[in-house]
Amino acid sequence: MNLYSLLEKGFPKDKKACALETHDGLYYSWADLEGATAKLANLLKSLKLPAGSRVAVQVEKSPEALFLYLATIRAGYVYLPLNTAYQSTEIQYFLENAQPAVVVCSSKNFSWVSKVAAKAGTKHVLTLDENRTGTLLECAGSLSDQFKTVPAKDDDLAAILYTSGTTGRSKGAMLTHKNLGSNAQVLQKFWGWQKGDVLLHALPIFHVHGLFVAAHGALINGSKMIWLPRLDTAQLIHHMPKSTVMMGVPTFYVRLLADKGFNQKVARNMRLFVSGSAPLLTETFNTFKQVIGQPILERYGMSETVMLVSNPYKGARVGGSVGLPLPGVEVRVVNENNKSCGVDEIGSIQVKGPNVFPGYWRMPEKTAEEFTQDGWFKTGDVGRWGGDANGGKAPKDYLCIVGRSKDLIISGGYNVYPKEIEGFIDDMDGVDESAVIGIPHPDFGEAVMAVVVPKAGAKLNAQAMIATLKTQIANFKIPKRLEIVADLPRNAMGKVQKNILRQQYTS
Ligand code: ATP
Ligand code: MG
Repeated sequence: MNLYSLLEKGFPKDKKACALETHDGLYYSWADLEGATAKLANLLKSLKLPAGSRVAVQVEKSPEALFLYLATIRAGYVYLPLNTAYQSTEIQYFLENAQPAVVVCSSKNFSWVSKVAAKAGTKHVLTLDENRTGTLLECAGSLSDQFKTVPAKDDDLAAILYTSGTTGRSKGAMLTHKNLGSNAQVLQKFWGWQKGDVLLHALPIFHVHGLFVAAHGALINGSKMIWLPRLDTAQLIHHMPKSTVMMGVPTFYVRLLADKGFNQKVARNMRLFVSGSAPLLTETFNTFKQVIGQPILERYGMSETVMLVSNPYKGARVGGSVGLPLPGVEVRVVNENNKSCGVDEIGSIQVKGPNVFPGYWRMPEKTAEEFTQDGWFKTGDVGRWGGDANGGKAPKDYLCIVGRSKDLIISGGYNVYPKEIEGFIDDMDGVDESAVIGIPHPDFGEAVMAVVVPKAGAKLNAQAMIATLKTQIANFKIPKRLEIVADLPRNAMGKVQKNILRQQYTS
């Protein structure tokens, strides 16, 4: 079934009800949403694009940008969102790789985007700005607000989502109508979406978290979204009393807790705070529970698979664990011989399910490499069932992520998991956060190195920190080098870029 048709089943009967409320006081009804997506779908159809055409979009977040996504799905084309931070050489890579038939960009970028698009063979370049202007809406404005959604088969592509590029060059994950639809249905149930829910939406919509997990959740439930252009703590606090659900990356929670205006009164109607995309620090999980009186629900997923594992809505949410496999999703942790690991044993995380993508766009070799012979997708993440989490033990059916296989350090033949050492460093007085990486070493192959950010105003002593670690962990895990820095390099999704740190300290 076409994903839009599935989402539409959840839209409320009362089309005058509010679907989106914006930060600047605009209200879009469900009738507005349906009419606008129909107009945009009619525009795409009028371009007579070949089947399977990609519509690449790099625009600021706005209700119209969401409508453009839905219109692309409705018209049976493939949506390709692009991070707004990307500049011309990056956009050139994506457009040449994906060869979209249509590119939609901000008018301020039109001059360079249109040149890059022309080189990639794109015929149609339109603009869309945050304030409802641009050629896209000008062209669609006079078209019909009725559109018969194009039927789609389960395996038809709905989107190509480029991964965040944390471990290397971004890959285009192809996602089908079935991948996205099945995950939206599962999450609606698993997270207990209810009538009357209101979603506070401040995530970007070029990524799996904001576009698929958050927006699909509200759409399939017929729930209103409070649509904020970006993370702005004051705005979150302002709109939270009329919201019931929020999804954020860990930075959302760190920033909220640092704001004196955030308290139980502000969060009184909130029934669910979800965190994902990057590890939630145990300290943040604990403080939040203490201050707000409810635990953040941490979940785990990725561009290639949408959501995989989640702490329960009802039942124990364990800090430091991402929880249980979602219904219909199979998860296994295996050793080098693809044999399942026992409880508390660290191995590679592999997954199967209706949510798992069919492969990377135009990368058959990479796709073949990342699937086992019997069809399990290798997530590239390392984890274990149960074991230490949050100072206590996680139950044996709960998954704990230890890190990424690319970040694993092999020093003198021993496997060193950066997260373990980061945990000890982060617990020291005056430490804000840390990143542990492997750097080349003539004897050991790789040596452990720590890069540490102090809390504001704190003075740290590298030698004293290493001495403390020596009393806590085995010698082969002790950093040979510890640098104190002002901040860690992060990409647009707030993920620490260890590849950049490795490059920096290797040269
Ligand atoms: P690339 O694949 O290009 O290196 P990326 O893996 O960061 O980038 P995404 O698909 O956006 O791109 O992110 C998925 C990854 O995010 C997961 O593989 C995992 O490493 C991390 N992740 C997601 N949720 C969590 C979580 N709750 N805890 C720890 N890591 C998480
Ligand atoms: Mg990845």
